[in-house]
Amino acid sequence: MPNLTAIHPSPQHRIRMTFDTGENFEIQYLDLRFHCPCASCVDEITGKRTLRRESIKPDIKPMKIEPVGRYAVQVNWSDGHSTGMYHFDTLYKLSKEFGVSAPER
Ligand SMILES: [Zn+2]
Repeated sequence: MPNLTAIHPSPQHRIRMTFDTGENFEIQYLDLRFHCPCASCVDEITGKRTLRRESIKPDIKPMKIEPVGRYAVQVNWSDGHSTGMYHFDTLYKLSKEFGVSAPER
């Protein structure tokens, strides 16, 4: 799986990610927040998402993005939620599925 080499907020409520494949993606804050992989957002046994999209405020934004080892980032969201660890492979999959390809800057 690709490695994340950069992640930071971008205009229009998007987060920008760069992978070592040379690809850049932008994904909406809301999409990233909604796909939080933690145990309070996803049922650990059934794997079913318990977080409802409608319950996320449209103005959600990341307050802080911190690296976890060399394989994940932890996001502190403006709704106070910070237990989600996004592995690089998860970020890559989300980028492919929900993100838009962003040109080099
Ligand atoms: Zn969560």
